[in-house]
Amino acid sequence: MKAALIEPFFATLQAANPHPQTELQYQSHFELLTAVLLSAQATDVSVNKATRLLFPVANTPQAMLALGQEGLEGYIKTIGLYRSKARHLLETCRLLLERHGGEVPRTRQELEQLPGVGRKTANVVLNVAFGEPTMAVDTHIFRVGNRTGLAPGKTPLAVEQQLLRRVPDAYAVGAHHWLILLGRYVCQARKPHCWECAVAAYCDYQPKTPAP
Ligand code: SF4
Repeated sequence: MKAALIEPFFATLQAANPHPQTELQYQSHFELLTAVLLSAQATDVSVNKATRLLFPVANTPQAMLALGQEGLEGYIKTIGLYRSKARHLLETCRLLLERHGGEVPRTRQELEQLPGVGRKTANVVLNVAFGEPTMAVDTHIFRVGNRTGLAPGKTPLAVEQQLLRRVPDAYAVGAHHWLILLGRYVCQARKPHCWECAVAAYCDYQPKTPAP
C-alpha cells in the first residue's frame, strides 16, 4: 500500500466507527486482563459467555484464587486450553497480589512476566486499559496487514513493527481495533468481501472479490 493511501484508509475506517472498542466484555483492568488471557486461540464470543458467569463470583485476584483450579475450570471449560489457562490465570493472580498490590501493572515488562501473558496480550492490555498506541497482532491483523499491503510481514512481530512504523499517530490507538474488525467481518480468511469493503480503493489485494 502506497504511503499516501494509509491516511485515507484509516480515515475511512474511523468515519465508519469513530470509537472502536474491544468486543471482550469487562468492567475493570483485572477483568480485561483475565478476558484477554482466556481469549488466546478462542473467540471473543466464547470468552464473553464464560466470563458472564465467572466475573459476578470472581472479579479480583483474591476471589479468583479462592475458586482454586477446579472451581475456575468449571467456569471456563467451554474455552479451548482451559486447564492451562486456569493454571496461568491463578499464578498470575498470585503474582498480581505479591508484586503489584492486586493491580494490573502498566508496563510491558511487568505484564509479560505474568504467566499466560505474551506480547499480544500485553499489547491489548496496554492499548485498551491504558490507551497506549500498541498493535496487538492476532490472526485477523496478520492477514489484513499482509493482504492490503499496509503491513506485510512473515511473522506477527514483523507485521507489528511495520504497523508501528506506518500507522499515522492520529490513528495509532484505534488502529488495532479497526483492523481486527475489518478482518473479522469483512476481510475474512476464506473469502474477503471486497465488494462491500469500505477501504477497497486503498487496498493492494488483487483481484478484488466480486459480489456473489
Ligand atoms: S478490499 Fe478485499 S482484500 Fe482489501 S481489505 Fe477489503 S476485503 Fe480485504
